[in-house]
Amino acid sequence: MRTRQGRRDLAVIALCLDLSLLMLGFAALARDRQAEEQGVSQPDPARVAAPLPPRRPSGLTPQVEPPDGKGVNEPGGAAAPSSCIRTFEERGGVVLPSGGAGAGECAIDDPVTFQQLVMQDGSRVELDSAITVRCPFALELLAWVRDDLAALASRENARIAKLSGVGGYACRARNGDTTAPISEHASGNAFDVGGLLMQDGRAVTFAGKEPLSGSTREAMQKSACQRFTTVLGPGADSSHKDHLHLDMRQRPRGFRICQWVVE
Ligand SMILES: [Zn+2]
Repeated sequence: MRTRQGRRDLAVIALCLDLSLLMLGFAALARDRQAEEQGVSQPDPARVAAPLPPRRPSGLTPQVEPPDGKGVNEPGGAAAPSSCIRTFEERGGVVLPSGGAGAGECAIDDPVTFQQLVMQDGSRVELDSAITVRCPFALELLAWVRDDLAALASRENARIAKLSGVGGYACRARNGDTTAPISEHASGNAFDVGGLLMQDGRAVTFAGKEPLSGSTREAMQKSACQRFTTVLGPGADSSHKDHLHLDMRQRPRGFRICQWVVE
């Protein structure tokens, strides 16, 4: 039979047990917090996810093209190709890593570097060295070679294999004369070419008569003067007696220069 004193002792023991359990609980909580803090200061490398790129705000299209059609910078610093360069590739230009855009008065807008052009029949025309020009000029050059010269060569049962003696962007004055105005070559807006080499080995120099017929040579001259605002070739001056210079210089009232005497 329990006495009143006995019941009081039991109540004290129960209270002590409760307090002990409470203390154990606090200790466990403290350990958890300590572990958590250690986890933050010393993360497990295997469990840390790679940082995610910032989220694109909803409502934006995946890639916003600036109104001028120039490339936009992608994460990592590489510039996406401009709409002009994409068109150049679609039409058969084989784009190489850019040769640089120059600086100051020799800066080129939207440069493209290439050494090969793919013709409509799938054959390739190679330039004897890679050149850099402004992309809009490259489109005109590609059209001249692919649509005009290749068609004219086929009249003579020939396919163009190579453009020889080529030149594009160069930061220099006209004709290499340091007292002359800056050349169109310095803005990537000009092209020099010495001749054509056909797949069958025939070589065409623009200064000579062989091996193309007079009518084909005249048609080549006409096509160049229709596409480019400046054509200087044999017969123009001593600087151009052995090659063609083609550029897209814009002059008042649309004035054009076509000086290439075909014999
Ligand atoms: Zn030139």
